[in-house]
Amino acid sequence: MPSSAASTPAPSAAPTARIALVTGATRGIGREVSRQLAERGHTVLLTGRDPDAVRRAADELRAAAGTADVRPLPLDVTDDRSVARAAARVTAAFGRLDVLINNAAITYDTWQRAVTADLAVVREAAETNLYGPWRMATAFAPLLRASAHPRLVNVSSEAAALTNMGGGTPAYTASKAALNALTRMLAAELRADGVLVNAVCPGWVATDMGGPGGRPVAAGAASVLHAATLPDDGPTGGFFRDGRPLPW
Ligand code: NDP
Repeated sequence: MPSSAASTPAPSAAPTARIALVTGATRGIGREVSRQLAERGHTVLLTGRDPDAVRRAADELRAAAGTADVRPLPLDVTDDRSVARAAARVTAAFGRLDVLINNAAITYDTWQRAVTADLAVVREAAETNLYGPWRMATAFAPLLRASAHPRLVNVSSEAAALTNMGGGTPAYTASKAALNALTRMLAAELRADGVLVNAVCPGWVATDMGGPGGRPVAAGAASVLHAATLPDDGPTGGFFRDGRPLPW
């Protein structure tokens, strides 16, 4: 991560604004989640692994929304040091985090079958899709505990539901099924701290990953927003799309 001042969250946010961090927010659903959170008055830390893309996306969202408080923060979820640096910056700037959205993911491996899968691809997918969110949860748990209304959202997929699971996309599906398991464990372990931890499917969405034909990005992002903006008596340890429960 570069040490330029441009990538450092400015220290002051509106006193009532909730502080939200979105991973993989340079494009697709993460970028739109950032836009929608900013529209609702959150201070958004827009993150991604390419510092230039992060700065560009934050600038564009700010320009489009006028007063929206969107701040660039380079962060690669596969890199321990990058995640630790980002957590240190959020600690210094705000002393808490209200909303963590684990959105970044890779490798929708339609070309593979489980029975012939390249395990290097499976491992690589897990590094971003499972260990990334896990690394983030570990690093940011102290900041979430410091929030009065903490929310943690793991962006998953209905493809990971064991109930109806078939074959195909093995690296992606296994990583998201494990992410669902992580969601349940984190929800149980952070319940006493008031952190609402849920997994969300955005539906099939027309992004670079989803390809053409899916629903609009705004609809997929709204599904994520639902879990990010739950009331204090909202659910934890659940799996949702558009606010409705999905089977595990
Ligand atoms: P995209 O491929 O469009 O965007 C993925 C984002 O993640 C990009 O900003 C990418 O940045 C970022 N990213 C990748 N690796 C890392 C990393 N190591 N660190 C930080 N950021 C990273 O995906 P979508 O927007 O479609 O998907 C968003 C989420 O929704 C994912 O979790 C996906 O699994 C889930 N989902 C999507 C569906 C769909 O139909 N689109 C369906 C079900 C679930 P970069 O530009 O650097 O690559």
